[in-house]
Amino acid sequence: MAKKVLILMADTGGGHRACADALRTAISTRYAGVLRADAIDVWSQVAPWPLSRAPRASQPLVDRAPWLWRRIYEAGESPRITEAIFDAVWYWTRRRALAFVEQHCPAVVVSVHALLQDIPLRALSEWRQLSGRAVPFVTIVTDLVSTHPVWFDRGAALCIVPTDEARGQALRAGLRPDKVRQYGLPIRPEFARVALEKHHARRRLGLRADLPLVLLLGGGEGMGRMEEIAQAVATLLAGEGFGRGFPASQLAVICGRNRCLQQRLSRRSWPIPTAVRGFEDRLWEWMAASEFAITKAGPSTIMEACASGLPLLLSGYVPGQEEGNVKYVVEKGAGSYASEPETIAEIARSWLRAGSPRLDAMARRARELSRPDAASAIADDVAALAGAESG
Ligand code: UDP
Repeated sequence: MAKKVLILMADTGGGHRACADALRTAISTRYAGVLRADAIDVWSQVAPWPLSRAPRASQPLVDRAPWLWRRIYEAGESPRITEAIFDAVWYWTRRRALAFVEQHCPAVVVSVHALLQDIPLRALSEWRQLSGRAVPFVTIVTDLVSTHPVWFDRGAALCIVPTDEARGQALRAGLRPDKVRQYGLPIRPEFARVALEKHHARRRLGLRADLPLVLLLGGGEGMGRMEEIAQAVATLLAGEGFGRGFPASQLAVICGRNRCLQQRLSRRSWPIPTAVRGFEDRLWEWMAASEFAITKAGPSTIMEACASGLPLLLSGYVPGQEEGNVKYVVEKGAGSYASEPETIAEIARSWLRAGSPRLDAMARRARELSRPDAASAIADDVAALAGAESG
């Protein structure tokens, strides 16, 4: 019977789910019949109420009161505070956590969420005392540069990091160098594989094949000032064409799970052809069709864009965990950052006007940053810990 790998995540935003899916796919293709990987949304499937609501409740906070989110994030950097919180959560969730481990009997547990190290490790340690079975635990750090201290727990058998910066932080946090592996962020393989010419990709999406496409994203939840940015970009780009019937470019706005935004934008009339969509399962097709992406600095979106060779115009970031991503992208030459919609529109116009040389250089830099094999490398390490050989 196939051994079980549990991937712990939270189904908020889109990044954790995307990393978990990438790893699950890599495990099931490389170790078919030998390993079986399941992604578990720990909050909704394991945590008691009202903890089960915590990630969803925090989402509007991040979007609408980022200053408060920053305070909470920074307060959590104090080990005294996090220890006290984890002690309380453990007291509250211990029975459920142990019952969950007993029910699944995993060969390896993997976490792709910052808050899912301490409590799962306590559960596995107690499970070992009760059953005599040791279950290795793997941390996959899904923040690129600004990594919160709660990621780094010495109880993990392996800590997998995406960048030099994250590796440095893991070592400074006291992890043993042989336990820290740098493979990149796991992304779904299609991002690096789509080999369509842009105009073919646009036609497949039902867009105008002849017009360059600007892609506007806001992560899985459609966060940030997307509405204002879409308006500013469409207005400025409309001035580049020969009037309403003869635009020089087009826009796609992917609202993710933000239905209100999708409805509002769908009702508008736009001065250039504008496709408004909700959550798109095949985002790689949109990236393949675009000249560049305007997006908040979400780690998965950044690495997916890099794998697609897509320059990035970063328009915002979640305070704390996404802050370092901006510097990372800009310093590595894969894109730019601006927060005001008018400035973003100016940059978008200049990138389209400048033509391919500038965009080509950024696209090249983006590809150089990408690590499309990360998920396979991680799958191999997980399989080794599970004592499994490929099927
Ligand atoms: N995503 C998607 N379809 C959408 C919008 C987003 O598949 O319509 C995915 C995107 O490909 C990426 C993730 O959602 O994998 C967003 O992750 P990121 O880390 O950028 O930001 P988060 O949403 O976690 O804040």
